Amino acid sequence: RFDLLRDQPADPLLKIIAAYAADLRSDKIDLGVGVFRDDRGETRVLEAVKRAEQRLLDRQTSKAYLGPDGDKAFVAELGARVFGADFMRPWQGLQTPGGTGALRLAAEILVQAGVERIWLAAPSWANHAPIFAQAGLRAMAVDAFDVAAQRFDAEAWMDALRAAAPGDAVLLHGCCHNPMGIDPDPAQWRAIADVVAERDLLPLVDLAYQGLGDGWDEDAAGARLVLGRSRYGLLAYSCDKNFGLYRERVGALWATAPNAAAGAVVQSNLLALARANWSMPPDHGAATVRIILEDPELAALWQDEREAMRRRLHALRGELGAQGRIGDLDLAPIATGKGLFATLPLAPGPIEYLRREHGIYMAGSGRINIAGFGIGGIERFCDALHAVVDA
Ligand code: PMP
Repeated sequence: RFDLLRDQPADPLLKIIAAYAADLRSDKIDLGVGVFRDDRGETRVLEAVKRAEQRLLDRQTSKAYLGPDGDKAFVAELGARVFGADFMRPWQGLQTPGGTGALRLAAEILVQAGVERIWLAAPSWANHAPIFAQAGLRAMAVDAFDVAAQRFDAEAWMDALRAAAPGDAVLLHGCCHNPMGIDPDPAQWRAIADVVAERDLLPLVDLAYQGLGDGWDEDAAGARLVLGRSRYGLLAYSCDKNFGLYRERVGALWATAPNAAAGAVVQSNLLALARANWSMPPDHGAATVRIILEDPELAALWQDEREAMRRRLHALRGELGAQGRIGDLDLAPIATGKGLFATLPLAPGPIEYLRREHGIYMAGSGRINIAGFGIGGIERFCDALHAVVDA
C-alpha cells in the first residue's frame, strides 16, 4: 500500500542547516536554527542543568514507569510558577514530550470535545498548522501581521476573533512570538481576553519562551489574563529554550476549568489521549527541571542563567535596532521586539545573495534568530545588508 504515498518535501529549515554545515567560510553566520546561542555561537548546557543531572544520576534508584502524566512534581512545581499565586481558576496538567507534544495533545482534546476550528494569527510557527491539521482541526489563519512594516495588526486579529463562532478555539503565543518577535501590548492582551471571554472561545496559549522576553511573570501575564477569564482553556508549555533542554523534549500541557470537578474530567481525557499517543513521556529532562525547581540554590542559579540569556537577546535587539534604516529595510522595530526572532521583509533574491556572497544564513521567510549573532556579527550583517541595497 505504500506505493500510494507521495513524497513529502523536507522542512526547508533543515536544508539551510545542511548548507550552513557544508559552508567552509570561517566567518559564516547562522541566523536560521531556533536555538539560543552565546556570543561564541554555542548552545551550551546550563550549569544548573548539569548539576541537577549529576544529582539525578547519583540518586535515582529506579527507572520503573511513572504513568501517562509523567513526573507529577515537575508538573505541579512548574505549573505553580507558570500560573502564579494569584491565578483563581483550577488548573491541572501533565508532562508532554516537548511543547510540540503539548500542542498535539491540545489539538486532540479539542477534536474530542467537538471543536472543529482553531484561529491563528499568521504568520505563526511553521509547525502549528500541520500539528492542528494532523489532529483533524481546521486551522483558520488570519493575516494578523503586517510583515512589510514589522507590525502586529491588532485590528485584523480582533475582527477575526469577533467573527469566530462560540466554541471555536484560538491559538495565542504567550510571549516572544515566533516568527515575528512582536507580542500584544498589555492593552491589546486585555482586549483579546475580553473578546475570548465574551464570545466563549477556547484559548490555547503556546508558551515556549517564558523568561526570555520581559521577565518570568511579565511573559506569563497575557496567558494568565486570558486563561483566568475564559471558562475552559489550555496552556501548552515548552522548557526547551528557557532550560536549554531542546533535545530532551520537556513540556507540559495544562487545562483550566470553571471548577475542580470539570477540571478532573478534562484531565482524565488528557491522560487517556496521552496513553494512546506515547503512553508515557520521557523522564530525564523533566526530572532535571523538577530537581532545579525543588532546590532554591539550583533555582537561583537557573534564574541567573536564564536572565543572562534574556539580557543577551535584549542587548542584541538594541544594537540591531540602533542601525535604523538600511535602504528600504528598517531595523528599528527589532529593538522593541521580544525573544529569539524577528522577520525581516526581505525578498528571496536578497536572502539568497546574503547566503551566497556573505555566508549569512536565514530562513526563506526572512526570519532571523537574534541569538545567532556572535561578536562582530551585527556589524558584518549590516555591511552585507548595505551591499544588498547597493547591489
Ligand atoms: N511553540 C513555539 C512557538 C515554538 O517556537 C516551538 C519550538 N520552536 C514550540 C512550540 C515547540 O517546542 P518543543 O521544541 O518543546 O517541541
